[in-house]
Amino acid sequence: MKIIHILLLGLLCCTSSVAVTAQQYMANEVARGDDNSWSVEDLGEGVYLFRWWPGFYVSAFVVGDGEVLAVDPVSRDVAPLYRAAIASVTSAPITKIVYSHDHRDHIVGADVLSPEAEIYAHPGTLASLERRGDTDVPKPDVLVNNGDTIDIAGRSVGVHYFGPNHGDSNIALSMTTGSGELLVFVDTLEIGIVPYRTLPDTNVQGYIASLQQAAKLDVDWVLGGHSGPGPAVWIDNYLNYFLDMEKALIKAEAETIEPPSASVEDVIAQGERYTDAVIAKAVDYLRPTYGHWSGFEAWAPLNAQTVRMYIIIGN
Ligand SMILES: [Zn+2]
Repeated sequence: MKIIHILLLGLLCCTSSVAVTAQQYMANEVARGDDNSWSVEDLGEGVYLFRWWPGFYVSAFVVGDGEVLAVDPVSRDVAPLYRAAIASVTSAPITKIVYSHDHRDHIVGADVLSPEAEIYAHPGTLASLERRGDTDVPKPDVLVNNGDTIDIAGRSVGVHYFGPNHGDSNIALSMTTGSGELLVFVDTLEIGIVPYRTLPDTNVQGYIASLQQAAKLDVDWVLGGHSGPGPAVWIDNYLNYFLDMEKALIKAEAETIEPPSASVEDVIAQGERYTDAVIAKAVDYLRPTYGHWSGFEAWAPLNAQTVRMYIIIGN
């Protein structure tokens, strides 16, 4: 049964030789918590989405023949809801949990979600847990890397690692749904939303390189950790956003005059005024193309601060 309905818009456009397609996700909700704090959507082929509404989190889980793989427990408070959500669509036990990356706001609570599950993660996630000494995050049992496959009794999840991006341990996961291939790229792709604030823990150059590699994958849909699914064009949208921001900042920098300063205090004060002017101008350049994305006015200037630092210092 097709559970993601695809709308093809402009496919028959007669004035252009290029067919423009846009797919729109239509949720097939199959379960909801009594307090409306969570819901489950069925994507077909054993792939489901758990949404925790109060915090706008979304995690995919895959139901195989007698076992379940769950991506990211989210938190100690959310994990029991996630467990109940999975139990609402299958009686199979959660045997596998995958940590998408090392950030604590996605991976605390695996022992609550399923104490018996085998935990999968990138070696970078294990390295972070050991470096930080996190005692409330069970360590991964199985380390996975680019090209690996995780089997879930009759189904499989592909593992992709493109190097550092939103963090340095992010793996993207590919899985087959009833409407094509889905790429889960938590926090690295968020559909219709500007990247979060000052891009904490982000390697900007690696982010761009990762998106370039992800764009080569043959996938139909993408899912973040807070939004989606959306059509795979969102890989290109994010890539173009970063490339356009780089260009906008370089242009704005060239067009903005920084007056000479007479003292250290003056250097700092003038420098901050100059930076504010460059950022504002760069965001103005981006607004016609990206201004309709959620969070643009609040976060694009903060994104620009970090991308400008990357341009200046090279990292
Ligand atoms: Zn993160």
